[in-house]
Amino acid sequence: MHPHRIVIVGGGAGGLELATHLGDSFGCRGQAQVTLVDARLTHLWKPLLHEVAAGTFDSHENDVDYIAQAHQHHFDYRLGRMDGLDRARREVSIAPSFDETGREIIPRRAIPYDTLVLALGSVSNDFGIPGVAEHCVFLDEREQADAFQRAVLRNYIRVQTHPETPTADQLQVVIVGAGATGVELAAELHNVARQLVAYGFDRIVPERDVKLVLIEAAERILSALPERLSNAAHDELRKLGVEVHTGRRVTRVTAEGVETHDGRAFPATLKVWAAGIQAPPFLRDLAGLETNRLNQLVVQPTLQTTRDANIFALGDCAACPQPRTDKPVPPTAQAAHQQAALLVKSIRCRLRGRPLPVFTYRDRGSLVSLSHYTTVGNLMGNLTGNVMIEGWFARLTYRMLYRLHQRALHGTLPMLLILLSDFLQNRAHPRLKLH
Ligand SMILES: Cc1cc2nc3c(=O)[nH]c(=O)nc-3n(C[C@H](O)[C@H](O)[C@H](O)COP(=O)(O)OP(=O)(O)OC[C@H]3O[C@@H](n4cnc5c(N)ncnc54)[C@H](O)[C@@H]3O)c2cc1C
Repeated sequence: MHPHRIVIVGGGAGGLELATHLGDSFGCRGQAQVTLVDARLTHLWKPLLHEVAAGTFDSHENDVDYIAQAHQHHFDYRLGRMDGLDRARREVSIAPSFDETGREIIPRRAIPYDTLVLALGSVSNDFGIPGVAEHCVFLDEREQADAFQRAVLRNYIRVQTHPETPTADQLQVVIVGAGATGVELAAELHNVARQLVAYGFDRIVPERDVKLVLIEAAERILSALPERLSNAAHDELRKLGVEVHTGRRVTRVTAEGVETHDGRAFPATLKVWAAGIQAPPFLRDLAGLETNRLNQLVVQPTLQTTRDANIFALGDCAACPQPRTDKPVPPTAQAAHQQAALLVKSIRCRLRGRPLPVFTYRDRGSLVSLSHYTTVGNLMGNLTGNVMIEGWFARLTYRMLYRLHQRALHGTLPMLLILLSDFLQNRAHPRLKLH
C-alpha cells in the first residue's frame, strides 16, 4: 500500500506555498507523498513582474529553485507542462520537455494521484481583439518581462547614441489596462526614464521625449478599488505626466500603435497588454471538468471541483463562489495564499476522513505601488475596519507582502537573512538593470 499521493500542478503564489507546507507537515513523516509539477525550474512571485519589466527588480536574483525547495521541504518535484488528465485512471499527463536545440530531454509521462490540486495560474486575455497577440507584450511570464526590459533599454540606447535629435515618438509606450499592473508599470517606467538620465543618457529629456499612455475601458482606473484610491492614483499619475485615457475601448493594435473605439490612434514603439486574464485555455476541455467563460475551473466552497471531489483548484485558475455576491473570489496572490493555507487543513482532514472546511475569502485590502513616488491602498482588518493608507507606510506594507510570501516558503529566519542580503546588494548594485 502506497502513501496517499498528493499531486500539485503549478508552483506559483499558491501552489508552491501549498507544496512546501504539505511537504513539511506530511511528506517528512511519510504520511503522504507530495509531488509538485511545474513547467519551469524556478519560481518567481508573479506580482513582481512589472518591476522586472521595468528593470527595477532583477528576476534572477530572487527566484526559488524548485529542486532545492523540494529537497528542503520533503516533497518531490517534476519538471513538465501538464496537458491532459485521465480522471478514471487518476493520472495527470505531462507533455515531453525539449532543450533549446529541440532534443527531447524528458519523454511524455503520466503522474498518478489520489488527490490532485490544480494551481495553474492565469494568462493574459486578449478578448480576440485583432493585433493584440501579434503586437503587444504580455506580462505572464518572466521571459516576457525580461524581453520587455531589454526592449526598453535598447530603445533608450538607440535614441541616446543616434546622431539625429530624439523625436517625440521614439520612446512612446502604450499600456492597455489600468488595473494594478498597468498603473504600477506606468509609474515604474516613469522612474526608469529619470534613472537612465541620471546614469548618463543625457540626450534624452524625459518630459520631451518619453511619452507614457495608459488606456482603460472602464470609467476610472483601478476600478476594483474604492473610488477614493483610484482618484488618488489618478492624480499622482497626472502629476507624473502619464497620459491617462479612461472610457476608451481598444479595438485594434498594429505595429504602429493602438486604436480605440472612438477613432483615436495612439502611436507607440512598445505596447503592453494588461487588460484582463483568463485561466490556461487547455482547462476548457479538461476531462469534463466544469469551467466558466474565463476557462477557470468551477469549484465548491471546499475548493473541490464541482464534478470531481478528488480534484481541487486554487488561485487564478479557480472560480470559487463567494456568499452574497455572484462575483467569484478575485484572482490575486492574496487569495491564492489564503486558499493554499486552507488546503493544508483540508488535506489533513481528508487524510483523517473528516469533513472538509470551506473557504471564506478575507479581503485584507489592496495596495498599488507608484514606483518610489508613492503607494496608495487600503487595509482591512477585524479591528481596524477599512483604512485608507498612502505614502511610506503604504510602501512598507506593500514591500511586506513579498516578504510574507518568502516567509511562507522559507520560514522567518531565512526570510530575514534574505531581507538583509537584499539590503546589502541594493547598496552595492545599480538601482536599475542595465543589460
Ligand atoms: C504584473 C502583475 C502584478 C500583480 N500584482 C499583484 C499584487 O500586487 N497583489 C496581488 O495580490 N496579486 C497581484 N497579481 C496577481 C497575482 O500574481 C496572481 O493572482 C497570483 O500569482 C496567482 O497565483 P497562482 O498560484 O494562482 O498562479 P501563479 O502564481 O501564476 O502560478 C502558476 C504556476 O503554474 C505553472 N504552470 C502554468 N501552466 C502550467 C502547466 N500546464 N503545467 C505545469 N505548470 C504550469 C506556472 O509555471 C506557475 O509557476 C499581479 C499579477 C501580475 C501579472
